[in-house]
Amino acid sequence: MTILGSSSTHLMEFPRKILIGPNVIQDLGSFLTALSENFSNLAIVTGRTVKSRVQSLCQSSLINFTFNDAWYIVDDATMSSVRSLEKGMISNLPDAILGLGGGRSVDIAKMVAFDLRKPFISIPTSASHDGISSPFVSIRGIDKPFSVQANTPLAVLADTHLLSEAPKRLLSSGCGDLVAKVTAVKDWELAREETNEYYGAYAANLAFLSAKIIIDKFSGERHEDTQNEIRTIIEALISAGVASCIAGSSRPCSGAEHLFSHAIEYVAGHGYGLHGERVGLGTIMMAKLHGLDWEKVADTLRNVGAPTTAKELGLNEQHIVSSLVLARSLRPDRYTILNKIKLDNLSALDLARSVSVI
Ligand SMILES: [Zn+2]
Repeated sequence: MTILGSSSTHLMEFPRKILIGPNVIQDLGSFLTALSENFSNLAIVTGRTVKSRVQSLCQSSLINFTFNDAWYIVDDATMSSVRSLEKGMISNLPDAILGLGGGRSVDIAKMVAFDLRKPFISIPTSASHDGISSPFVSIRGIDKPFSVQANTPLAVLADTHLLSEAPKRLLSSGCGDLVAKVTAVKDWELAREETNEYYGAYAANLAFLSAKIIIDKFSGERHEDTQNEIRTIIEALISAGVASCIAGSSRPCSGAEHLFSHAIEYVAGHGYGLHGERVGLGTIMMAKLHGLDWEKVADTLRNVGAPTTAKELGLNEQHIVSSLVLARSLRPDRYTILNKIKLDNLSALDLARSVSVI
């Protein structure tokens, strides 16, 4: 009997330990020791700014243990960064690879760890997307217009104090990636009905819950309780990533709103908004197509400070229309509302106008 390879079975891989709280970066040494007695050489992948902020904190936590820490800086989320890091590590392979920073450092480190077959530990310093705890990575230079699968992080350490010091815009972007689960889950339900695709109710509900918590909390009016807010958002992002682990794919977290975001990168190029900001804009429009309460989605985004119009992202009317029309062709294996309602230039324009995105 084969366990893997059958369409009715899939393997679920979860993070083994998740530590969340203020100043838990100071516990990094004991956290790693509890994970494995075999960790000695650590590769820490990070960005320049994060390194200057937290290197001494990390090192004072590691000093009581027998770790060797080698630090690697990433400047961009491209495959060439992945390759040059791998080259740098290959002669002295680390026992574990830590991704310390925003989405870029976490994604690059996750990909390098996957290629080098080493355990990966996720240490986010901004709550900007759900890749924190999932096996998925978004890296430019891969010949696919969407995220690819690597390994699930062995562990996640989320210091809410560090996270609270990140630029506010990154947190708003994380909320955009969370509200997206409303339409992603609807797309999955639709695929079950229309194409008989496998649908995991538990994974779908968990992803939906992570969006619901954010919408319930922020769709009314803005709360100003930063520490609690950050904890709620980071826990929701981690839960969404775990939903992907349960599903064995990004299905519960990524539907037509993500395809729209990828299409923007094709149509307009890179540099127009953050991942979660583009996805949030897409969610407003896909919610309308699904017949959901799109105004509640828009209110939530507005209340967390995320963009709700093309203009705020530097995009024009044509960018939005072309992206809406292109999106359904980017990933033929992923059935979404855009396969059911096939938009042309005119209907795409109507849709974007009707929800005031343009
Ligand atoms: Zn996403």
